Amino acid sequence: MPFCPNCTYEYKEGIKICPDCGTPLVKELIDHEWVVVYTSDQEYDVQMVKDALESTEIEATILSQKDSNFPVTGDLAVIKLLVKSEDAASALTFIKELNKTKPEEE
Ligand SMILES: [Zn+2]
Repeated sequence: MPFCPNCTYEYKEGIKICPDCGTPLVKELIDHEWVVVYTSDQEYDVQMVKDALESTEIEATILSQKDSNFPVTGDLAVIKLLVKSEDAASALTFIKELNKTKPEEE
């Protein structure tokens, strides 16, 4: 079944582009297993980590429940950053370093 890496929805055979977000569908979830390496309730925060990862050639995808059709309330509004399972270890190390060098927040 084709699968949208962005929305994580499955679509019927024959559909090539996600009707929801326009992302090209991947063949199967098992093409790449995406794993969550970072979560935040702040979208800019997740976007920053994504940009940093991509600057090191690690492909990352933001999964925001705001994009889905489900109503979101309170704590459920978590934004996730996913990378391919083979990149997970280096991504996690990278994020750890990133947070270490982040200026202290008040
Ligand atoms: Zn989609």
